[in-house]
Amino acid sequence: MNVADSELVEGLLQKEGYLPAVNIKNADAVFVNTCAIREHAEEKVHSQLGRYNLIKKQNPDMIIGVLGCMGQNLKDDILESRPYVDIVLGPDSYRKLPEILNRKIVNQKSIVDTKLSRFEVYNDLFPSRKKGINAWISIMRGCDKFCTFCIVPFTRGRERSRSIASIVAETEQAVADGFVEITLLGQNVNSYKHENEDFSKLLMAVADIKGVKRIRYTSPHPQDINSELLEVMATHDTICNYIHLPLQAGSNRILQRMNRTYTKEHFIGLVDYIRDVLPNVGISTDIIVGFPGETDEEFEETLDVMKKVKFDSAFTFKYSSRPGTKASEFSDHISEEVKKERLQQVIELQKKHTLERNRESVGSVETVLVEKESKKSSTYWAGRTDSNKWVIFDKGNAKIKDFVPVLITAAKGVSLHGDLVHQEEAHAV
Ligand code: SAH
Ligand code: SF4
Repeated sequence: MNVADSELVEGLLQKEGYLPAVNIKNADAVFVNTCAIREHAEEKVHSQLGRYNLIKKQNPDMIIGVLGCMGQNLKDDILESRPYVDIVLGPDSYRKLPEILNRKIVNQKSIVDTKLSRFEVYNDLFPSRKKGINAWISIMRGCDKFCTFCIVPFTRGRERSRSIASIVAETEQAVADGFVEITLLGQNVNSYKHENEDFSKLLMAVADIKGVKRIRYTSPHPQDINSELLEVMATHDTICNYIHLPLQAGSNRILQRMNRTYTKEHFIGLVDYIRDVLPNVGISTDIIVGFPGETDEEFEETLDVMKKVKFDSAFTFKYSSRPGTKASEFSDHISEEVKKERLQQVIELQKKHTLERNRESVGSVETVLVEKESKKSSTYWAGRTDSNKWVIFDKGNAKIKDFVPVLITAAKGVSLHGDLVHQEEAHAV
């Protein structure tokens, strides 16, 4: 989301004639686009700002701006503790940046704009994207779900969606610019609603655009997965056979305290249904350990759901208290030590499941989009299957952006290894 927002800001500034600095030391302005989802994300921003301040000491006219969720959330703290910050803008105020920059140059005072909007979707702005494989396309902003642990509804404001026409126009532009994979983005991507159109309609419209080879989307909420959406996924080859399905916790009491709106039984039933409609689908998840009041037995239930579902992969987090959220006010917070220990258990279990799931692919031929050179060796490519698994294979004469058939020969760690299948053999397979 922040990469996409930064591209939006860059596009906006370039339109006004600003150019990227070759070296940060010579920059007239530097912006940090921030995330407030966990304390760790905020700590990283604080150390980054400290580094920018050292540069500003050599170049006192350099403008430092804090953009995005932390700006929204912590404007007063930032201005108080970091007087060298010149501009603070929330996620709905990027459009004002050129005007604010001009104002700041004339008048030396710090400027803050963190007004949230019910309408801003940046419909008419084209992000400035680096050349590559995947284009992030933001389709909706904000969140109305108010999970009790989460800061997003406060920093990003109310849910609002762009029109299908504007999303299609941006996708066509991205295809013309050479992108082959499109990822539709939103805090709650599948609760997309514009006039009478829902997320399934939007997916169909994007799938119909010529030249789009792969479509992904993130992050969906289990509550908004429905049969139409699965049907559209099943009937369109370009929509990847992959769903990110955040579980968060496996105990019904904790889920209710989190305000997640589903039970563990519903979640497990949903996974079974998804796997029926979409055979071989890749399913990943998000898990939070140590939510306030989570007992050992309740934590065991998270492990139990993981064992029943066997996710292909998982993003796992220690609960991080976010001031202003309902859960931060609960009185039964869990110690850091217990959270750490639970996180370790979740990570270990997931590693085992990822390997087990990946082993199921050994012996099959997968279509892989060549994305980059493998970190392992310059003679290997790394690319993903449509079920979102990384595959490492000998380069042969494949090129970046090619879709190639790869025979999966092994599952190691969290990735797959394979051999390119020559086109003639691929037809035989
Ligand atoms: N809208 C998505 C998630 C977006 S935030 C959904 O509802 O599924 C991405 C992930 O960050 C969440 O799924 C959650 O696992 C994690 N997260 C959010 N707030 C958190 C917090 N306070 N502490 C720890 N993890 C958190
Ligand atoms: Fe946060 Fe997702 Fe819940 Fe919205 S649905 S409050 S973004 S975790």
